[in-house]
Parts: sequence; structure tokens; C-alpha cells
Amino acid sequence: MIASSSPVELVIFDCDGVLVDSERIAVRVQREVGARLGWPLSEAEVVRHFIGRSHAAGWQVVAERLGAEAAAEWEQRFEQRHRELVDAELAPVDGIVEALAGLGLQSCVASSGSHAKMRHTLGRTGLYEHFEGRIHSASEVARGKPAPDLFLHAAQRMGYPPEACAVVEDSGPGTRAARAAGMRCFGYTGGPTGVEALAGDGTVLFSDMRELPALVHGI
Ligand SMILES: [Mg+2]
Repeated sequence: MIASSSPVELVIFDCDGVLVDSERIAVRVQREVGARLGWPLSEAEVVRHFIGRSHAAGWQVVAERLGAEAAAEWEQRFEQRHRELVDAELAPVDGIVEALAGLGLQSCVASSGSHAKMRHTLGRTGLYEHFEGRIHSASEVARGKPAPDLFLHAAQRMGYPPEACAVVEDSGPGTRAARAAGMRCFGYTGGPTGVEALAGDGTVLFSDMRELPALVHGI
């Protein structure tokens, strides 16, 4: 059971699907590339294999299925098309700007993505300045989500114990990582990941980002 008697002092935000509305684009592109390269995937399959995990973990799944050469091509096609659509369409997650303005607590980012990718997506959506200097990537730790390493690392760098932290996540690996870190977890259900993949002990599910400040403050 996760301790929740003390107030939240630090809110750790996942990036993709929580701050920037990139998961819909990612799902779409994975399906496009899969259909081209001989592995047609449903939306649920894309979510299961790729969303909330490191790139390396995703490409490993492709390599096991289609071989290393096809996985390399998959990655190249995905990156190119994803970048095109991010540049053309990426927006902040609905309600996140209001949520950040209303939070009134220290916050940071902890994402499976690289620093370069976050600079691009957070910059594209006008959120980079809000988090500059408080952005943590899975590239800084040994094990990505669902291991707790990244959230524990972010909390330590920010100077807070796990019990003072809350995590906002939209993926199964992410909510599992938050629970494994002993942190309170808020699972955002407004994206492509199903509710059942986010649910777990002590996890508060919510579908409107504007509700986040009140939920974190326990109002
Ligand atoms: Mg995410």
C-alpha cells in the first residue's frame, strides 16, 4: 500500500500523452509503418508493444517478430514520419496548460524519451520553458519504465523523498513504475491506453487534465 497521508510536494509528469498529445500520433505512425512492413497492428497491440516503453524495448519487439534489418527500417520510417506529424500537428494535452497553472507545487518531467526529443516536443507546444532544468530522461538510468528507477532518480535530483511525490502517467508501464517507486499515481485516461492497463493499487484514474490540481491536493 502506498503511503498517502502526507501532502504531495513534487508532481512528476510523464511527457508523451500527459504533457504533449503525441501518443495518438505515435499510434497512428506505428500502424502505418507496421502495415507497410508486413505486421498490421491494431491500436490495442500498438499500445501494448510500444506506448510508455523505451524505444529500445519497442524495436526489440519488432526485431523478434520481423528480424533486425526490418526493425532498423521500421525505426527509420517511424522516426521520419513521426517527426513530420509532430511538426505539423503536435499540441499540448487538452487542459494541461490550465492544470500546470493551477497546481501551485514544484514539478518536473520524467520520460522514456530522449532529451533531444523532449526539447523538440515540449518546445513545439510551448511547455519547454515551464520545465527547463527539471527534465529527466530514461537515458539517465539503467532501467526504463516499468522499473521505478527514473521516478526515483527524478525525485532525488529534485530533492524530495518518494512519499512526497505524485506521478502523472498515461501508460501501463508508467503507472507500474510509479507504484514500484512508492509514489502516489494519477493515471490519465484521456489517451489511447485502456483504463484497465492503468489501474492498480492506490492509483487515481481521471480523464480531464483540468481536474488534476484538485486531485493532487486531495480536495
Ligand atoms: Mg506517456
